[in-house]
Amino acid sequence: NESLAAVDPQVAEAVSAELRRQQTTLEMIASENFAPVAVLEAQGSVLTNKYAEGYPGRRYYGGCEHVDVTEQLAIDRAKELFGAEHANVQPHSGAQANTAVYFALLQPGDTILGLDLAHGGHLTHGMRLNYSGKLLNVVAYHVRREDGRVDMEEVARLAEEHRPKMIVAGWSAYPRHLDFAAFREIADSVGALLMVDMAHFAGLVAAGLHPSPVPYADVVTTTTHKTLGGPRGGLILAREEYGKKINSAVFPGMQGGPLEHVIAAKAVALKIAASEEFRERQARTLEGARILAERLMAEDAAKAGVKVLTGGTDVHLVLVDLVESELTGRDAEDRLHDIGITVNRNAVPDDPRPPMVTSGLRIGTPALATRGFTAADFTEVADIIAQALQPSYDRADLSARVRALAEAHPLYPTL
Ligand code: PLP
Repeated sequence: NESLAAVDPQVAEAVSAELRRQQTTLEMIASENFAPVAVLEAQGSVLTNKYAEGYPGRRYYGGCEHVDVTEQLAIDRAKELFGAEHANVQPHSGAQANTAVYFALLQPGDTILGLDLAHGGHLTHGMRLNYSGKLLNVVAYHVRREDGRVDMEEVARLAEEHRPKMIVAGWSAYPRHLDFAAFREIADSVGALLMVDMAHFAGLVAAGLHPSPVPYADVVTTTTHKTLGGPRGGLILAREEYGKKINSAVFPGMQGGPLEHVIAAKAVALKIAASEEFRERQARTLEGARILAERLMAEDAAKAGVKVLTGGTDVHLVLVDLVESELTGRDAEDRLHDIGITVNRNAVPDDPRPPMVTSGLRIGTPALATRGFTAADFTEVADIIAQALQPSYDRADLSARVRALAEAHPLYPTL
């Protein structure tokens, strides 16, 4: 029962170094967040020791009486929070949530429509090297060249032409709301199922600050660690009629023992997500993204060839278009990293540069909102980023300003 530092100083040191990195830099990767200490505590608990194949009340192992409590809490809270008829909280990740849905409702070779990866979709929405692209017949839809919005006319046309079994709506890099009612209508017109992957915007939906896909979709999948701010994991919500099929696709179809420590942490995160504090945090997340978009559309940014895709944002992220800048996506990511801001480079639609270089950035505000950033702090960070994307900039000054913001909002002070 020795401590981590005593048993494995190398791992302990790397963990401490990662904590220091998170504390001293500004995290703006749109898919990341800081899990509350209560979530970390549940996730790091003795529940990791327990095998619990099956579902609450119907397990294939003895001694499940306590993990039944935590898993049932997670299920009930997920249903209540999102107004869903059925919830499965066992997928180990967002990708596995999507896999389980495909295995539950599709056959290999079936056709799906998904948003092209290069236009903001996710790997699991049918990318060629992903299992989804290998097992299914994937037809990709796109965003419109003129305004960067999902082209619903193309979705309708492709649906009519290819008669998909399922339409997948959802994204990893898209700054606007999707029209769930229009997706439903198109799905109904060709007898397709509608799956919405709300991994990125689930926290906004929980807070009532983003339209909910639940009334429109047959199945909704999500991760629990992005805007939702919980442990790394997946979650499936569905109409009752698909519940049984989905449960058996997760277990025994795809997974063995559920991660009950993570599921307990999901329960905690879902409780927090129903709170007023959480709603207020999601409101600051949105405000921060709007402030950032505005600042990156100012005259000095435009002169440096910096553009904001779709001319703004409705969500927690901003997509920066650097096609006309002398900086590539990689240069910009490196520059921001160098002054203490972590973002990821991102291909823009029809990107002229290769995928490892790209011509864009994806910048998100959830983690900083969790850290307590106010509108004034987001205005400061937006100005720092805008200056760093200029041809020349004062590295020392910007680094000092980043440090000051990090120090003004201590992260995990008790760890
Ligand atoms: N779905 C979407 C829309 C995502 O953006 C992601 C993660 O980036 C996933 C699914 C996959 O989640 P995970 O990384 O937990 O497998």
